[in-house]
Amino acid sequence: MGRQGSGKGTQCALLAGRTGVPHLSTGALFRREVAAGTALGDRVEGHLGRGELVPDPVVVEVVVGALRLATGGYLLDGFPRTLEQGVALFDAHGEDALDVAVELQVPHEVVVPRMLARGRDDDTPEAIETRLAAYDELTAPLLVWFDSRDLLVSVDGAGTPAEVHHRVVGALRSRLPVAALAPVSPPSA
Ligand code: AMP
Repeated sequence: MGRQGSGKGTQCALLAGRTGVPHLSTGALFRREVAAGTALGDRVEGHLGRGELVPDPVVVEVVVGALRLATGGYLLDGFPRTLEQGVALFDAHGEDALDVAVELQVPHEVVVPRMLARGRDDDTPEAIETRLAAYDELTAPLLVWFDSRDLLVSVDGAGTPAEVHHRVVGALRSRLPVAALAPVSPPSA
C-alpha cells in the first residue's frame, strides 16, 4: 500500500527477488493490456490516462480470478486499493488471503517529484493529482479496515530503495515466519 510514487513497485520487486514469491502488479498488468490493445486494455485505457481508478468490478474480476491460480503465495502490488476490493478479496479467498499489508508512508511533496521524474505515460501533472486524491478518498478507508483487523504495518518510505527495503524486511520479521523472508538470492540493491 502507498500513494502513487511511494515506491510500491520498487519494494515489491526487491521483496520478490529476495523471497522468490511472485509479484503481481495490477498497474503493470493493466498497462500491458493497454499496450497489447486487448479488450480489457480498451476498457481500462481511459481510466489509466486520467489517473482514475479502474472500476472495482473490473479489477476484482481480473485479480480475484488470477489469484485462484496462485499456489505458492503472492506479493500484491497496488491491489486491493479500495474497501470494496478488500472485501471482495476476502469473500473469494477467505481471511487467509492476506498475511500482512505494508503501507509505505511518503508525503505528497515527496511523491510528486518522484512521479514526474519517472515519466510514465500516465504521469501527467493532472493524472498525478487525480491519483493522489483517489488515494486519500478511496484507499485510506481500506487502511483503516486493515488496521482494525491487525493486518497493517506502516513503514517510512523516505530514502533509497535499499534503505526502505531494509525497513520493510524488519517490519515483516515480526509478522511472518523466518523462512518466508530468507533470501533466495542477494537483494540487488
Ligand atoms: P500503479 O502502477 O499501481 O500506479 O497503477 C496505475 C494505474 O492502474 C492506476 O492509476 C489505476 O488507474 C490502475 N489501477 C492499478 N491497480 C488498481 C486497482 N487495484 N484498482 C483500480 N485501479 C487500479
